[in-house]
Amino acid sequence: MTSISFNEWDLEKHVADAIGQLGWEEPTQIQVEAIPFARKGMDVVGQARTGSGKTAAFGIPIIESCEPNSSTQAIVLCPTRELAVQVAEEFQSLQGKKGLSIETVYGGTDIEKQAKLLDKGVDVIVGTPGRVIDMSKRGHIDLSKIGIFCLDEADRMLDMGFFPDVLWIVEKMGEREQTLLFSATFPQEVLDATEEFTEDPIHVMSEDLEVEVPEIDQFAIKVGRLNKMWALGRIVASMTEKDQMLIFTNTKRMVDMLGERLDRQGVDSASLHGDMAQNKREKILDKFRDGSKKILVATDVAARGLDVDGITHVVNYDLPDETEVYVHRIGRTGRMGRSGQAWSFVSGSEIGQLDKIANTWAMSIPVVEAPDLPKGTKEMARLKEDWDEISDSFGMVTVRVSVGKRDASKLSLSDWIVKQARVPEVAIGEISIGDSESTVEVHMKKASYVIDVLKSREFEGRSLEPAIVS
Ligand code: ADP
Ligand code: MG
Repeated sequence: MTSISFNEWDLEKHVADAIGQLGWEEPTQIQVEAIPFARKGMDVVGQARTGSGKTAAFGIPIIESCEPNSSTQAIVLCPTRELAVQVAEEFQSLQGKKGLSIETVYGGTDIEKQAKLLDKGVDVIVGTPGRVIDMSKRGHIDLSKIGIFCLDEADRMLDMGFFPDVLWIVEKMGEREQTLLFSATFPQEVLDATEEFTEDPIHVMSEDLEVEVPEIDQFAIKVGRLNKMWALGRIVASMTEKDQMLIFTNTKRMVDMLGERLDRQGVDSASLHGDMAQNKREKILDKFRDGSKKILVATDVAARGLDVDGITHVVNYDLPDETEVYVHRIGRTGRMGRSGQAWSFVSGSEIGQLDKIANTWAMSIPVVEAPDLPKGTKEMARLKEDWDEISDSFGMVTVRVSVGKRDASKLSLSDWIVKQARVPEVAIGEISIGDSESTVEVHMKKASYVIDVLKSREFEGRSLEPAIVS
């Protein structure tokens, strides 16, 4: 890797000064490779891992190309409002005293106010597709005159969710001169889609998959749903004063539930998901950024691309379905070469998915024991018998008992269990009576109790010898 300094580029003074102010010593690899081409006005497709400085890789050339004249010259699209805000902030610090008006345009904010701002004239728009389309339909953005088009997190912007919106916008940009697409990953179908938007682009890609993956310690703990809280407690207990943790769940509902559970355990945390009002989300993020909140629970959408330097721990409370998402998540820690650790909770049935993630990115994610509980700390949750691991999708656990059709019928067996164990009938599922043994489905919530009862009493004068079928 050749190291070069920002000075060699002879950047315009405002930008050079701003970079000096920021204290940046040298450009990052993606900046070294992308900026010279982007400055020439060429199309660039740039890929580099999260935290490698992609924002400035497109930000510096965009700022240099624009003049403060209140006509929109560049538009940057991002998948979330938080990212739009973050990119706009980075643009602001990079332009120094240049005086460009850089505005964010995203949903959830006052339309009238935004319309007025846009009508006054802005030089650079950083926005999310939905609101940009809305504003252009209302006549407050004239896409046809904008020369520079940029997609941040292009993999997401060109996937099924956003693709139609992005296409709509691009098609309106009749005078588009330059297109810049940046992302941490470019799956093949996204790479194919970039062809639609670019003309002879320069591809800046890190060839080695391993370099995209942050160099942090990754671990998995094998736990079922019931014991995730317990495992989380162990990791939280291992954190030091300075550490910060970002916990990912797969659903908004789970974000709320986990936030509440942590609260009940006296563990202070904040939650972030896409259904929250914009100003609330920003407040929460500020608290996480300034370190007054140590733990943030979030969905992928809400946390995507978030640039918070202090994150030392990423926890996949739920394992993501897509391998790229995993890399995005763990990229929240170990930023700019800092150290970090990522923990994933996997159930028995998810081990395959974990292997797939590890193999795709040539990473090692060993399955380990949960960290020991430091002396003097309390468990956050009790380690429960992990029925979850052996139950079916209805939560039923199959128990084998040693009576057959000579001694029992479905009805007699189920009546007896309900009566002896005093469990509601719905806790007992299918019963199948065999020649010399039978199986009974018991809901996992009652399973350990029912088994204890079956062990201690006799059915028609004989011991049932209950055993779990896994
Ligand atoms: P990415 O978009 O690739 O995930 P960002 O653009 O968010 O990464 O950059 C990550 C962090 O690195 C930001 O805080 C940014 O200000 C900082 N940064 C970017 N370029 C440099 C540089 N050349 N030197 C030092 N810090 C940098
Ligand atoms: Mg980024």
